[in-house]
Amino acid sequence: MPQVLVRGIPIEYRVLKTRRNRYMRLTVSARDGVRISAPFGTPERDLHAMVRERGTWILDRLEHFRRQEEAQPRWHYRDGAQILLRGRWTVLHVQDWERNAGKIRLADNGIVIQVPQSMRDDEAVLRDLFERWLRRWARQDLPLRVDALARSMGLRYSQVGVRDQRSKWGSCSARGSISLNMRLMLAPPEVSDYVIVHELAHISQLNHSPRFWRIVAHYCPEYRAHQRWLREHSWLLDMKSG
Ligand SMILES: [Zn+2]
Repeated sequence: MPQVLVRGIPIEYRVLKTRRNRYMRLTVSARDGVRISAPFGTPERDLHAMVRERGTWILDRLEHFRRQEEAQPRWHYRDGAQILLRGRWTVLHVQDWERNAGKIRLADNGIVIQVPQSMRDDEAVLRDLFERWLRRWARQDLPLRVDALARSMGLRYSQVGVRDQRSKWGSCSARGSISLNMRLMLAPPEVSDYVIVHELAHISQLNHSPRFWRIVAHYCPEYRAHQRWLREHSWLLDMKSG
């Protein structure tokens, strides 16, 4: 990756050259870092100059994303850790048992995981158990909610899939097939219902037009608050442990 020194700090950037670009455009994002899209044939010195010219702003943005990343809650899969479930922080209890297998269940006092003693500190094993359980639960629960909400909205969908996506809470295809993220089970039920209402509304409106939002608002009047919750918890999509 090319890099430019700004105030003694190296800034690395990626270049995207396409025929469609008529001007140079520089963006900074948490996911992609510094990117410049530029027309074919743009000389490197122009790219360097652009980075240098906007260097202070770029460093500010990078610092902002670094802080955001640091402030992101971390999941820990260990005894006494807290995990978000249906919008509530729930305690994870890790217990030994003599059987050579893992088991997980929901109890009154939280989530109970039982594993052989040799595995109780293995976060990868605990995480795997938790995620497989979450997926099973989501596959039982979410299709039922889709069915109930579709009925009340008077809409027909073709099928529901529950996936473990890293970027989206849900989607709807042109053929009326709904796809939902299993991590919706971590959100409050009313937030998860909003996502379902949103995707179902796409069956009649495959866009985000004012008409689409009127349908959403009709079935989910508090949808703006739920959108805010999803934005503030977007890190759940990419749960990092450790
Ligand atoms: Zn949408």
